[in-house]
Amino acid sequence: MRLILLGPPGAGKGTQAQRLVESYNIPQLSTGDMLRAAVKAGTEVGKRAKAVMDAGELVSDEIVNAIVAERIDQPDCANGFILDGYPRTLQQADAVGDMLSRRKQKLDAVIELVVDDKALVGRIVKRAKDAEAAGQSVRKDDNPQVFDERLREYYKKTAPLIGYYYAKGRLEGVDGMASIDEVTSQIEALLRGVRGKAKADA
Ligand code: AMP
Repeated sequence: MRLILLGPPGAGKGTQAQRLVESYNIPQLSTGDMLRAAVKAGTEVGKRAKAVMDAGELVSDEIVNAIVAERIDQPDCANGFILDGYPRTLQQADAVGDMLSRRKQKLDAVIELVVDDKALVGRIVKRAKDAEAAGQSVRKDDNPQVFDERLREYYKKTAPLIGYYYAKGRLEGVDGMASIDEVTSQIEALLRGVRGKAKADA
């Protein structure tokens, strides 16, 4: 199963991806997590990405595409993966399409978590508070000021992917304002449909 989770920051992509990891036994590939790990490790990529991430802007396509291309060749991706936070630009969408076709693989679904913008900033503030309360480090970009920029970047560069995948007949929407369990059920129902169709086509 190869999936893309689409949606603005705070839509719940990470939370849902973690649940799908358990049910489908495939890894969550979060480019945000990979970039944060690179920043922490002080690698060349991390050094180039840090200021951009702190400002809530997007890291270059070149860097992110290279990270993903390397990651999907790891053995744990053999049966599929969940892309969380990637692709985020039309160029990245073309790049992942090329990566998969070169490997004779295909996407099973692109799932958009449809949310109300007004609820998002509250979710981000809550995420920061929860992390703090749990003694975890708080993301530098999880604050209302940087969040505004992240949302602008989303509408400018990522939202066009909704049309891109819709036109390819790959887009499925779920109500991201429902409870976490309800969103998971909606996604799982949708994926059962995708699997059923794949079997029927085989
Ligand atoms: P996330 O954890 O997905 O919210 O990502 C945190 C930050 O990492 C983003 O605000 C960007 O600066 C950077 N980032 C993550 N994924 C991408 C991507 N696919 N393309 C460009 N920048 C990204």
